[in-house]
Amino acid sequence: MSLNCIICNSENMVKIQDRLRDSNIHKVFICNNCGQVQINPIPTIDEDKKYYSNDSQAKAVFNEVNMDIMKAKSSIDVKRRYRMFKDKINKDMKLLEIGCGYGFFVEYLKNEGYDIDGFEISNVRREYGTKTLGCKIYDINLLSEDSLNFHKEEYDVIFMFHVLEHISEPEKFLRNVKKILKKEGTLIIEVPNLDDHMLERSEKYRDFYFQRAHITYFDNKTLARLLSKSGYSDIEFEGVQRYNLYNALNWLNKGQPILEYSVPREIDWIEKYYTAKLIKDMECDTLVAYCKINREE
Ligand SMILES: [Zn+2]
Repeated sequence: MSLNCIICNSENMVKIQDRLRDSNIHKVFICNNCGQVQINPIPTIDEDKKYYSNDSQAKAVFNEVNMDIMKAKSSIDVKRRYRMFKDKINKDMKLLEIGCGYGFFVEYLKNEGYDIDGFEISNVRREYGTKTLGCKIYDINLLSEDSLNFHKEEYDVIFMFHVLEHISEPEKFLRNVKKILKKEGTLIIEVPNLDDHMLERSEKYRDFYFQRAHITYFDNKTLARLLSKSGYSDIEFEGVQRYNLYNALNWLNKGQPILEYSVPREIDWIEKYYTAKLIKDMECDTLVAYCKINREE
């Protein structure tokens, strides 16, 4: 079986992890040429289709209680994203979220008065977003070009939250995103950050981190490289820490996550310091990239 870097095609790949959280077949490699980290073997489009249609989250969709919990959980990210990106958008713009899932972010912006569409390939998620939330969500896969003609240069700002790391052909995907972005438009991408400080500090966290659904793993250097290779420029990064100090301490103590607690008000100052320090050093768990189309390409 041949093994090439998903970004630069180099064969100079070194194994850094022997198994994934949820697969003994896949392993994790780093490219010695460009530094990209990826799983191998890379799932085929058909394997991914099967994988995502068996998704247990998607199965829970028509259970109202579960959906309320899911919406509540996602609302922290939805509100944080709105705060972060508010100054990049206005109500005259045409916005798009690629891989919008159930449509919680799309619904939130719609309710704030913005003109926003979604793209989502999961049928159950798209149906929930359109029928229950009343959003405009299209069944479009950016890896198959035919459906893009309807949306050529349509959008001022395109969002992709935790999508890129799932894509088996990231450069092709990003080049197709360019076709539907306006010439002066902005692409905003959020992915997990491979420079996450916990990866060095907890072996258990590391064993948990690499997973079948995530084909590629980016830090700000490899993501910048991919974006410029795919025809983008003016690339800027912002760090985000989504998981709190409780979670980090639980990984170190017990080797497992704890997601449902917030840090007590009395030691909120420690939490603030923790987050600020990680973001300053870009060792936070999440990476946001802003970029524009490179018009000189
Ligand atoms: Zn490479």
